[in-house]
Amino acid sequence: MPRSPFLIVAIDGGAASGKSSSSRTLSERFHFLHADTGSYYRALTAELLRRGVTPTDLAGVKAALAAVTFTTRVTGRSAEIELSGHTIPDAEIRSAVVTAHVASFAAIPEVRTALLDYQRSQADTARQHGFRGLVMEGRDIGSKIFPDADFRFFLFADPVERARRREQQGLHDQVARRDTLDSQRLQESLQGAVLVDGTHLTLAEVVDKLAAPIAEKFAGP
Ligand code: C5P
Repeated sequence: MPRSPFLIVAIDGGAASGKSSSSRTLSERFHFLHADTGSYYRALTAELLRRGVTPTDLAGVKAALAAVTFTTRVTGRSAEIELSGHTIPDAEIRSAVVTAHVASFAAIPEVRTALLDYQRSQADTARQHGFRGLVMEGRDIGSKIFPDADFRFFLFADPVERARRREQQGLHDQVARRDTLDSQRLQESLQGAVLVDGTHLTLAEVVDKLAAPIAEKFAGP
């Protein structure tokens, strides 16, 4: 029997486009490691804010980056980031203050460079833990982190619908503002990706669209 391939699936898209729910469901269906890179940028933002650093203070950002190490804790199917050996609580990562600052920190090239190799290393982490692949979600996964991914998807959803989803979750989020700050990365990751418009689809329908070609690849020629 030929060994089944190790697959890398990149899922990019705007804020509240359904990336997290669908990538988590894919990770369960195919036994993939799930890496939510938005949570990495959020954790780093929380750490920078804890240290009193603002996005305009480049020297402060650089000093903080030099002082922090990145490691991974695999919990179930999820690859969580540890900063200098500690995870940051989910409530802090999703807090309004982190949500308000994350896109500004993420726009700083030094911040992106600091996380580049770390994100790529999740493929080895997935292999070492016996997963059949890695599903990584973010804004630049298919363009910068894994341009050679086996699958590159871009999830689209109408901005009005996305704002409604966030409100339903009881979260205060400036979806449109973050998309503007993230827009260059979003455009780059859209290039050459398979576009899935989830505006009028249920989560199950979105997942089915993403899962079909993956299942086909595992089934072989
Ligand atoms: O996915 P989520 O909305 O939690 O991401 C939070 C923020 O992190 C985004 O608005 C974006 O500014 C940044 N981000 C990024 N590149 C990624 C993932 C997230 O710049 N790959």
